[in-house]
Amino acid sequence: MLVFEKSKEGRGFSSLPACDVPEVLPKEEYRRGLELHLPEISENDLSRHYTELAKKSYGVNDGFYPLGSCTMKYNPKINEDMAGLPQFTEIHPLQPESTIQGCLEVIQKAEEYLCEITGMNRMTMQPAAGAHGEFTGLLLIKAYHESRGDHKRTKIIVPDSAHGTNPASATMAGYSVVSVPSMEDGCVDLEKLRAVVGEDTAGLMLTNPNTVGLFDKNILEITDIIHECGGVNYYDGANLNAVMGIVRPGDMGFDVIHLNLHKTFSTPHGGGGPGSGPVGCKEFLAEFLPSVLVEGTEKLTLKKPEHSIGEVKSFYGNFLVVVRALTYLMTLGKEGIPEASQNAVLNANYMMNKLKDIYPMAYDEVCMHEFVMSMEELKKGTGVSALDIAKGLVDNGIHPPTMYFPLIVHEALMVEPTETESKETMDKAIKVFRKIYNFAITAPDSLHQAPVTTPVTRLDEVEAARNPVLRYQF
Ligand SMILES: *Cc1c(COP(=O)(O)O)cnc(C)c1O
Repeated sequence: MLVFEKSKEGRGFSSLPACDVPEVLPKEEYRRGLELHLPEISENDLSRHYTELAKKSYGVNDGFYPLGSCTMKYNPKINEDMAGLPQFTEIHPLQPESTIQGCLEVIQKAEEYLCEITGMNRMTMQPAAGAHGEFTGLLLIKAYHESRGDHKRTKIIVPDSAHGTNPASATMAGYSVVSVPSMEDGCVDLEKLRAVVGEDTAGLMLTNPNTVGLFDKNILEITDIIHECGGVNYYDGANLNAVMGIVRPGDMGFDVIHLNLHKTFSTPHGGGGPGSGPVGCKEFLAEFLPSVLVEGTEKLTLKKPEHSIGEVKSFYGNFLVVVRALTYLMTLGKEGIPEASQNAVLNANYMMNKLKDIYPMAYDEVCMHEFVMSMEELKKGTGVSALDIAKGLVDNGIHPPTMYFPLIVHEALMVEPTETESKETMDKAIKVFRKIYNFAITAPDSLHQAPVTTPVTRLDEVEAARNPVLRYQF
């Protein structure tokens, strides 16, 4: 029931004092023509209304949430405590530097640790999301080529397994995108890569482990091929969960990277943010970084890099997300960070091995932090699609994995358990996955109907996307 349907005329809870200044109405032309429809409801009922809605939603705190390529991990509550400190929340971005030394230290420390983890030299915290970081990184690549008078580099190479934001960001930055096909095993085809690089190559965008959850063992050769033709290597580090503290993009031959603090570094996400997509780079690109960087040791100051590309967001990015990330880094420390990665990889391989006798794996080898299954054969045999399986999982109390991504695997389901899930939770989920598969064989029709236990059942997703009804119809 919508809040408008609970509305009763004349009810409400505002107790404002009577107006004691003359009323001034805006000019006729600025006044609204239609009556303002607001729900009229008591505070008690309103509070219950939102609590009821909150109970209908499903989050990481409710149960298993294995959304691949998203790293839905537990967000430690101490992060929230730190991000809620008035010393961080009650400041103004225009305050003099001398009065915000603590905040500058947070940014500096976060930069230092994240550069250490990624093998980069400098990092900006300004971008607000992963895709925003990609765009920023590409502008750095562009500024670099142009600063050398090299204007012929118009192409960015992106493997066909890439996250959709990669080609989109490259296009936004004014590049044309060259897609290189992956091999059987999901890794970059070196021959095909060699065939497309040249004088017009501005750079390459790559995720490793790639979007099918595998570590590309040819990575050094790949980044060499790009460097040899004068290009720059961009690392999409949205999901660093398998490799942080283990292997560094900087050592794999990458020159510029972004991270998703709202995935790997434990800020809650979903629901639209706020996020943070810091961009790190090697020394030769640092002079182009956006906004200001924190400099100094005793007295910290803000300094704009010499040939900065300018601002990509206001002020210092989503600062409180950086506070959360730093808290996470300092809580785990040098030993805890690689341990989190090892557990992420262990969990994914555990689940994969407990499912692979019935669920066909898209790539049957040791995976990193996530694995991909294909429902293609199942669909041919029973009519049950990846979507049906996902909906069946909802009825059994777990959030579905990522569906229909990566695009190179048909009827894909991509599972990322994350390192914070216990063996018991995974065992329960494995049981559910196996039960659903049996349903698919014995009672395929029931899965076409799923979910049946949720507040709304199977939705017409195409209709919802094409003709969304986003306002209450009076
Ligand atoms: C999530 C993700 C992105 C995009 O990050 P946003 O913060 O959603 O913009 C880019 N690349 C990969 C591999 C991702 O998983």
